[in-house]
Amino acid sequence: MLTPNRHYAELKDSYLFARIAEKTKAYLAEHPGQRLLRMGIGDVSQPLCPAVIGALHAAVEDQAVKERFQGYLPECGAPFLREAVARHYAARGVALSPEEVFVSSGASDELGHILDLFDPSSPALIPEPAYPAYVDATVLAGRRIVHLPTGRDGGFLPSPAAAQEGDLIYLCSPNNPTGAVLNRQQLKAWVDWANARGAVILFDAAYEAFIRDEAIPHSIFEIEGARQCAIEICSLSKTAGFTGTRLGYTVIPRELQRSGMDLNAMWVRNRTTKSNGVSYILQRGGEAVFTPEGQKQVRETLAIYQGNAAVMASTLDRLGIWYTGGRNAPYIWMECPKGFTSWDFFDILLHKVQVVGTPGEGFGACGEGYFRFSAFGSPEDTREAMARLEELLK
Ligand code: PLP
Repeated sequence: MLTPNRHYAELKDSYLFARIAEKTKAYLAEHPGQRLLRMGIGDVSQPLCPAVIGALHAAVEDQAVKERFQGYLPECGAPFLREAVARHYAARGVALSPEEVFVSSGASDELGHILDLFDPSSPALIPEPAYPAYVDATVLAGRRIVHLPTGRDGGFLPSPAAAQEGDLIYLCSPNNPTGAVLNRQQLKAWVDWANARGAVILFDAAYEAFIRDEAIPHSIFEIEGARQCAIEICSLSKTAGFTGTRLGYTVIPRELQRSGMDLNAMWVRNRTTKSNGVSYILQRGGEAVFTPEGQKQVRETLAIYQGNAAVMASTLDRLGIWYTGGRNAPYIWMECPKGFTSWDFFDILLHKVQVVGTPGEGFGACGEGYFRFSAFGSPEDTREAMARLEELLK
């Protein structure tokens, strides 16, 4: 008899967002007509920029004209987009060949699929608090997880000094949920650790566009030695508002070899087997993000979210509450006041000031006592939510 993948039974219920939804629904049922200020969402609120919309329309027209119609595209991505991404990296001083760039349908898809490259016997090291998909995708792949808790003392940043084992390491900077960023020296320490062990870093750069400090690397490939040990997973979701449109890219350098096997070549084989690529229309939309006009427009949108993050940071500064994030990330990770647990604080904010955030405990046990706010809401809601928070806690 067929045996299903038994690892599904090992998944913990994804209770975080379900429990938030349940609690807010119950509150609204008791208080009909109340307006909640939702500061927990990880989805963007601003539309795609005009350069992208124009390119999407033009690509639809291409599909209507025999001479310009596109059928199947290369599975690993259209050359025009792979080249545009490579040029974008070159402008930051990172040399990539277009063949090292793989177009994807987004980072989530890729974080799950990429595990195909590695033998299930290799354990994964997951710094926590973590984006929940790392844990779940690893469990489904039947891989052992080594949890690496982080805390306030280290600014919620993982350090290889605390890492005992792990063949695959998930690093996320700027981090979801903590908003913390790894600087050059910290990233270099991980690259050296991975190279010394023959491990591979899965570097999740979904929030790189939010980095403002010049000294913070946007790509792990800004670090010497990373081409021998890292895969970078990127997304246009938060950079350019593609959460519902779906587009991302993954960088696998040619130097990334393990046990005589070439991971770039293996990924070409994987994609050509398991995918027929991403829609022509979306890839044209993605290409527009990397034009000068597209870059200018996406930065205008990012500035709205950065403004929200600055409002949240200054509120917490005035309240004297400890936090990470905000400056180089769209998330703020604050310590719950007065020793409240993260769910207690959630309930207090919901019931007293009608503000919804995300309890830190949902991102791993070491997130207990902390709380995440997101900067993706509207500026009006953000200002109002922070004014209510300040009134409550001052
Ligand atoms: N990685 C991190 C850290 C995220 O927070 C998210 C989405 O919230 C993703 C990846 C998924 O991005 P995508 O929309 O490209 O699937």
